[in-house]
Amino acid sequence: MGARRSDSDRRIGRRALLVGGAAAAVGTAVLARDELSHLWWRLPGVEKPRTPGAVDFRGAQWVAASSANYRRADRPDDYAIDRVIIHVTQGGFASAVKAFQDPDHQAAAHYIVRRDGHVTQMIRELDVAFQAGNREYNERGVGIEHEGFVERRSSFTDAMYASSARLTAGICGRYGIPVDREHVIGHVEVPGTDHTDPGPYWDWDRYMGLVRSAKTTKS
Ligand SMILES: [Zn+2]
Repeated sequence: MGARRSDSDRRIGRRALLVGGAAAAVGTAVLARDELSHLWWRLPGVEKPRTPGAVDFRGAQWVAASSANYRRADRPDDYAIDRVIIHVTQGGFASAVKAFQDPDHQAAAHYIVRRDGHVTQMIRELDVAFQAGNREYNERGVGIEHEGFVERRSSFTDAMYASSARLTAGICGRYGIPVDREHVIGHVEVPGTDHTDPGPYWDWDRYMGLVRSAKTTKS
């Protein structure tokens, strides 16, 4: 589950620095209009266009999280993405969706995978989800919740493993993330966390095998 400890503090330092630098560069170079229109998306603070309801994983259903549970960003341009973080909800699918829609929850992941393999996306991969209780890992990670309980082996179904593996394979492909246990990690492996998910019954060998074959099949 996403850690409740909030990291919603505004990153004034780095952001301000980047914007200042870009303004200075534009000021001195006086870029031609066509150059600017070509480069506009590279300028910090200028967001890529977004289509309401769009998802990053084909087949995912979009249900928006409360904007209090993530920070709008422009990844991977402002923050490189190099981790997939695996979570378990410690509850049912519907209650996880509800929690992420609740502005007081102060945590959410990008995706929730249901017991039957259905994938719901609640935060765009562009944005920083408050999922890990660690600002750096939030900024570099894409978070996937799985319906179930860490102490119940039966939570993790074949359908869930299969569709989550396709999702992770897609994320790794989009951002060039190596498919290994250094880059695909459990919430428990995030530095400083007191969370234990996905727990002892999550079958990492099986999961990573499925991610690798999903990635091979796709490309
Ligand atoms: Zn978690």
